[in-house]
Order: sequence, then structure tokens, then C-alpha cells
Amino acid sequence: MSKKRVGKIHEVVKYPDPVLAKPGETVTVFDAELKQLVEEMFESMYAAQGIGLAAPQISISQRITVIDVSFKKNPKEKVVLINPEIIDRTGKTVEEEGCLSLPEIREKVTRAEWVRVRAQDVTGKTFEIEGTELLGRCMQHEIDHLDGILFIERLSRLKRDLVLRRIKKMQKNGEW
Ligand code: ZN
Repeated sequence: MSKKRVGKIHEVVKYPDPVLAKPGETVTVFDAELKQLVEEMFESMYAAQGIGLAAPQISISQRITVIDVSFKKNPKEKVVLINPEIIDRTGKTVEEEGCLSLPEIREKVTRAEWVRVRAQDVTGKTFEIEGTELLGRCMQHEIDHLDGILFIERLSRLKRDLVLRRIKKMQKNGEW
């Protein structure tokens, strides 16, 4: 479990917490504890006003991510991806992205337009899911987290340096 939590809500860690740079471990046990963790991840994500959350963001270095691009409006859009991998992708699209671990930072990121992901559900069953637009982008962003990659690493060096300078400034001012 993560270092800090209140009830079901885990604290979302911010860059440069080292857990964010570490690839998550493969999940091998699909038990009640995992189900509980997934529930807590949804609660923590909603509490942080996010539409996607990866376990490393709550200091749990495992390959688990939850997504709800409808933000509570449609339970059918709740997605749980355990040990996900992108098995197919096409096209290119550029949109602005943000991240709960990089508050205030929003930058345009190039992603595949369409992806097919293979993952396991909370019971360990393998399934495939396709996504475009926000879901496609979100799955790519969250799977990056499981590989220890933040979206700022997908920016040009110039853009990334500007973002890092901005973060340093906010840290200096106690705003980070
Ligand atoms: Zn993120």
C-alpha cells in the first residue's frame, strides 16, 4: 500500500518522485486485495479530478491502471487494465495532455491515433480493448506510467527543458 492514504484515498505523488520513473512489476496474484486496490484507485483518481491513474502514481510499483474518460457519468466507460500492452497502433494525433503527477503542466503530445491493448481484468482474464481519441490517448499515457515514462519525456528537448525549468521555479516558490 502507498505511504500516505486517508480511508480509500491514496495520495498521488508528484514528479520527481522516483517511483514514477520505475517500471511497474507484473501482477501475478488476482485476489480480493487486488480488487480492493482497484476500487481505491478509482476513488483516488476521482478525488484528484483525474480520468486516468496508474498504480505507480500512488507509490505502488505494479502494472495496474484505471481509466474513466466519462468521469463517473457512465459506469460502462470504467476501464481496468492489468499488465496491459499495446499490441497494435496506427496513425498520429497531437493533443494537449496533463497528468496528476505534473499538476498545472499541459503540453501537446504526439500519440498514435488508434491503439489495441491486450490486458488482464481483476480476475486475471485476458481481454483486448481498442481506443481512439481520449480513450486511446489515455491508455497510451497510463501504459507509459507503467513503464516509468512521464508525458514530458515525449516532448522535444526544448519543450521539456522549459517545463522542467517551470517546475524548478514552482518548487523554489513552494508551489509544487
Ligand atoms: Zn499521468
